[in-house]
Amino acid sequence: MDHAARRAADPVRFAHRYERREDQEVAAVIAACFAYGRVAGFTPVLERIFDAADGRGGPRRWVDGFDPETDAATLSPLVYRWNRGVDVSLLALALKDLLAGRASLEEHLPADGELSDALDALILAVREAAVRSAASLDLTATSFEQLPRGFRSFLPRPADGSATKRWWMFLRWMIRPATEGVDLGLWTSRRPSELLVPVDTHVLRLSRFLGLTTRTDGSLRTARQITASLRAIDPVDPVRFDFALAHLGISGACKGRRDDEVCPACPLHGPCAVR
Ligand code: SF4
Repeated sequence: MDHAARRAADPVRFAHRYERREDQEVAAVIAACFAYGRVAGFTPVLERIFDAADGRGGPRRWVDGFDPETDAATLSPLVYRWNRGVDVSLLALALKDLLAGRASLEEHLPADGELSDALDALILAVREAAVRSAASLDLTATSFEQLPRGFRSFLPRPADGSATKRWWMFLRWMIRPATEGVDLGLWTSRRPSELLVPVDTHVLRLSRFLGLTTRTDGSLRTARQITASLRAIDPVDPVRFDFALAHLGISGACKGRRDDEVCPACPLHGPCAVR
């Protein structure tokens, strides 16, 4: 796989737009939150968000100085499916709250216990920071449930059984080393062996083809089963296969069925059950 070419068609490209670690981290959170649907659908929205951030000195400085009037007004026309500009403003203000006086969001990720529990704590921290920030956007909310639906969709919890694909992808970007030039390896308090695979439709389908899971739903239990299968292949870095699996589907190279023109040349032709 040509990782550089595929990275250009992946939301992680927005983190690689920056050189400073603090910019990469903030860009990664925002890009991961929008990484649903077609890449061609969310890419223009992310371009507009990061153009706005760059106009204020880059994502971290933009978040640190986010103004609920002027910056929120710049974002307000944004629409992507069920997300609106106000969702981005709320996310930026939550990050501003959490990053105040801190070098990294990693300081909100508990260093002990299961990584899925730590991720749950991080997501709860973002939720709570958003509630604290809501009034500055003239939103009336005393609980996460009262925040806009689009914003709430950014923050599903592992504790509710959700596979939280976008957040495991974010953690992969942060924790896996930059070996292939895709992930960033910015966070060191956790090891790659602790990661769960981010399960989207492509990864789920290919995992079923490869016998990595028998499950059919995109749940946390499925993510655990696929990761356990991958761990048998590489216990130190089980999710190193994720980018290649996902992009076999994203690129359209795998049609999701037997194709006599495509399958014989596929690198998974041997183990794939539908070849
Ligand atoms: S062998 Fe064919 S069906 Fe199986 S993963 Fe490859 S392209 Fe997809």
